[in-house]
Amino acid sequence: MSKNNIDAYRRKFLVGTGVAAAAVTVAPGLLLRQAQAKPADEAVTDKVRWGMLIDIDNLPNGGQGVVDACKKEHGWGNETHSNDKQKTHWVRTVKVTEKLTKHSFQLPVMCQHCETAPCADVCPTGASFKRADGIVLVDKHICIGCRYCMMACPYKARSLVHEAIYDQKPDSPRGKGTVESCTMCVHRVDEGKQPACVESSGGAIVFGDLNDENSEISKVLKEKGGKQIRADLGLNTGVRYQGI
Ligand code: SF4
Repeated sequence: MSKNNIDAYRRKFLVGTGVAAAAVTVAPGLLLRQAQAKPADEAVTDKVRWGMLIDIDNLPNGGQGVVDACKKEHGWGNETHSNDKQKTHWVRTVKVTEKLTKHSFQLPVMCQHCETAPCADVCPTGASFKRADGIVLVDKHICIGCRYCMMACPYKARSLVHEAIYDQKPDSPRGKGTVESCTMCVHRVDEGKQPACVESSGGAIVFGDLNDENSEISKVLKEKGGKQIRADLGLNTGVRYQGI
């Protein structure tokens, strides 16, 4: 496919995303606490930068609850690939032990939705891309499964589908030979809802607009702070952590 064709395809895909979002009707009352997510009748815009703040000390099951909620929402995790290291993982728990103090903690690691996303930089077809609102996605229709993005991601947050997938969730299309990762539950965000892991976290994860100083996430970050993993890489991640 020529670059022009790819660009035209990407434009069509992105426009389609906006139209689909505009067509959704939000149930009455849904936008109260969930007002942190995008109103359904608004197009994707760079005025918003979606982010998540994860308080690892208060996560149910030490982060495993995040993994379980994500699996349930998107239907991954039942693959039968024989090599554990190559199994699907949209989000995984990672145990960190400080060398000096031996203090250990566990944190869920998913796509960090970087402002300057290395995956999008190296993708030869444009399948890996960042939406205007900061959500990093893979367009499965033009992903060729080269896995450059998997090598470029410093967080090991992406995986390749090695086998045919059946009984898929309608909102999370997947395909053999394509790369996938956390979508920040974009299908929910575009309906004015919060990501599945956020809903399941009992308040330990705050989701919202990092550009809006009055959003809950911005207020908590301002008051209590929040760290990026590998902040030294300068990727300005959309996912931040407390307690690490
Ligand atoms: S935001 Fe959605 S896709 Fe990302 S880890 Fe949470 S549940 Fe999974």
